[in-house]
Amino acid sequence: MKSVLGGKGANLAEMTNIGLPVPPGWTVSTEACTVFYENDKQLTKEILEQIQVNLKVLEGETGKKFGDKENPLLVSVRSGAAFSMPGMMDTILNLGLNDKTVLTIGEKTNNMRFAYDSYRRFIQMFSDVVLEIQKYKFEHVLDKYKEDNGCSDDTQLTIKNLADIVEEFKAIVKKEKGLNFPQDPQEQLIMSINAVFLSWNNPRAKAYRNLNDIPHHIGTAVNVQSMVFGNMGDDCGTGVAFTRNPSTGERKLYGEFLVNAQGEDVVAGVRTPKPIDELNNIMPEIYAQFVKCSQLLETHYRDMQDIEFTIEQGKLYMLQTRNGKRTVHAALRAAVEMVEEGLITQEEAILRIEPRHLDQLLHPNFDVKTMKAAVPLTQGLPASPGAATGKVYFNSEDVVRAAANGEKVILVRRETSPEDIEGMVAAQGILTSRGGMTSHAAVVARGMGKCCVAGCESLKVDEELKILVMGDERIAEGEYISLDGSSGKVYKGTIKTVEPELSGHFGILMEWADKIRTLKIRTNADTPRDAKAAIRFGAEGIGLCRTEHMFFDEARIPVVRRMILSVTVEQRKKALNLLLPMQKSDFKDLYKVMENKPVTVRLLDPPLHEFLPHEEKDIIALAKDFDISVDRLKETIHSLQEVNPMLGHRGCRLAVTYPEIAQMQTRAIMEAAIEVMKEENCTVVPEIMIPLVGIIAELDYVKKVVVATAEKVKEENNSSIEYLVGTMIEIPRAALLADEIAKEAQFFSFGTNDLTQMTYGFSRDDAGKFISEYKEKGIMQDDPFESVDQEGVGKLIELGVKLGRTTKPDLKIGVCGEHGGDPKSIDFFYKIGLDYVSCSPFRVPIARLAAAQSVLKSK
Ligand code: ADP
Ligand code: MG
Ligand code: MG
Repeated sequence: MKSVLGGKGANLAEMTNIGLPVPPGWTVSTEACTVFYENDKQLTKEILEQIQVNLKVLEGETGKKFGDKENPLLVSVRSGAAFSMPGMMDTILNLGLNDKTVLTIGEKTNNMRFAYDSYRRFIQMFSDVVLEIQKYKFEHVLDKYKEDNGCSDDTQLTIKNLADIVEEFKAIVKKEKGLNFPQDPQEQLIMSINAVFLSWNNPRAKAYRNLNDIPHHIGTAVNVQSMVFGNMGDDCGTGVAFTRNPSTGERKLYGEFLVNAQGEDVVAGVRTPKPIDELNNIMPEIYAQFVKCSQLLETHYRDMQDIEFTIEQGKLYMLQTRNGKRTVHAALRAAVEMVEEGLITQEEAILRIEPRHLDQLLHPNFDVKTMKAAVPLTQGLPASPGAATGKVYFNSEDVVRAAANGEKVILVRRETSPEDIEGMVAAQGILTSRGGMTSHAAVVARGMGKCCVAGCESLKVDEELKILVMGDERIAEGEYISLDGSSGKVYKGTIKTVEPELSGHFGILMEWADKIRTLKIRTNADTPRDAKAAIRFGAEGIGLCRTEHMFFDEARIPVVRRMILSVTVEQRKKALNLLLPMQKSDFKDLYKVMENKPVTVRLLDPPLHEFLPHEEKDIIALAKDFDISVDRLKETIHSLQEVNPMLGHRGCRLAVTYPEIAQMQTRAIMEAAIEVMKEENCTVVPEIMIPLVGIIAELDYVKKVVVATAEKVKEENNSSIEYLVGTMIEIPRAALLADEIAKEAQFFSFGTNDLTQMTYGFSRDDAGKFISEYKEKGIMQDDPFESVDQEGVGKLIELGVKLGRTTKPDLKIGVCGEHGGDPKSIDFFYKIGLDYVSCSPFRVPIARLAAAQSVLKSK
């Protein structure tokens, strides 16, 4: 019933049905909220009538009446939508109190202090939620009375104090709103229901829904419930408890309570609450009853419960239950143990874990205690999770030097480029002021499993002056900052970090997931180190090895430059001959780590100018090195520069212009495989992948070069090794002609980053700047670079799969874009029948779990 009654209302009804002690009440449905908005934000006559009818029922049930002289009914008005929206819309307690009923309640309970305390709370809450008077105005008055009377605690205020406070509160209402505090309980109730409905659309609530993908049209319900009192004396109290520990998952009641207190006193920190165990010492019977209720609720809902309760004069009341929020550690432990306890099945356990949350397990995090005191300076995009603290440096060289001295460092750049790789490796974390979720910094950092905050537009990064400016704040080279790559927050100074621990529960759950999933999970890895990490996380192969990253190595870049700056084919071949053994040994290392698992190597992809220096001093040095004039070198660099490099001379276009490069790479791949097979006595089937194909003849041409070389290497080595030549599908034209392409390709791998970029016509390095605005304005739901656009880009992928398999029914097809690690996208890839997804090493566990969930959800 959650969609009609809201989560709180549905669970209150359910608890009543299973016989737990719940104060009676009723719920105004979410439908009424929709009607309210359709009716110009007014309650309709029909709704008002139904409210009256149900109020009568409640009065009958409790034997109390609104505004009654003998036995006045007091209620709480509580909001509750289908999805929990903590703190978004506030609750009003003690409604029904007025200048008369307060006296009756006081006399009836023989506790005038309690009556006035309840009344002043009611005015405070009503004024905040309904009348929208700022809270602090009331708190000031309360503080003043406490101070004047030397009270440390509001329970020490006298009846007279409280009565005076009530008068002052009413005066505030009069002054702020020009009205007398409403005395008629009916009016109080209607105004409150109205206010709860209105609060559904306050900016806080809207922002929360945007952030959590909750639809805006569903509305909230309102629960009207007769009051029970935890503030009537020392045999009363209120508290909250989880059926298991929400941070560790341990199966032990975990919670807090306060004696003689009402409502939110526990969480509001007015007084320091006591651990729930101590209730056993004070009220052992109540404690035993509560333990029983909470166990019953956990068994009933078959999940960890978060429970709110109140004790009124020695009697226990349950006021709320919901599935408890928990850390990923707790989620894993609880899920696995619940399977062991027989409470849920393995399938349910798999579905209980949010794949994206596994990230928290794999990266260092900030120490929770130190974190509390930290104030964020600003926020960028949460590009790669984890936490990092270090001294800022503004270029790769400085970072590498500082790190070599044992300093912890953060690389800060306007944006990173392939030249920064070494700095990125040496740094604890990376911060950029430009670029989106698929900018260079973001992609590379995720690949490394390194913390990165990207596109932090509010920061000015002055790489020349080596200073970071943020409003009045200036952070110079060598000063400390801290980054939270999971939230995108940037902090000044240091925050302690803690290393992650992979628990046994993680391993058990992942094993269950592996038994269920059908999609294979590969990884994008260029180095043995990344490959090892990926295998540890469960990768079953490499779906993308980007060879250019090998070219940026310090020892190699001069040779690469020599190759690029060659004038004749002969010169180029000479340089390539120097590169050959280097690439070969890289591939050998990679094959060795991967043992018998498949490895897809992509031929050189980026435009060549990325390998050349851009700064004057570097250009001068290079010219000297090569013994050519600075002017000539600049000319060459200039001639390689492109207006739009993303759409320029790159991918297989390079191999068409310089077949020698493809020949060298193919030779390195094949020779490495043959040697490793001999040395390690294993089987390697190299998969050679041709990038950025859009024209069939283009693929033909490059493939001929590759096959001719591969065959030659086989002959030279007298080897019968098998190999595959496939292509990336990342240009829309290739997807449209996939049936033709499949004639020449032995496998497809969708490069969804480029495919998204080219389908939308968005540059992925620049889109970050406006996509957030598109999301805010509702033009776009998700960033298509994070989660694949199923409508458009997805249509091309589906078409590519269908056409490809009409030519070759068992064509192996995978994905190697960033989307390979995104659960929503993985679900889509599973549905359209891909064989595997490939993602950065740290996303492998996420992909494994998401792939299992896809199978279970489609059942
Ligand atoms: P939230 O959604 O913020 O948790 P609730 O509607 O649960 O707000 O109300 C907050 C607190 O108010 C409850 O935890 C409970 O302590 C108190 N409360 C709500 N309704 C009643 C009631 N009928 N009797 C006594 N206390 C109540
Ligand atoms: Mg609550
Ligand atoms: Mg590409």
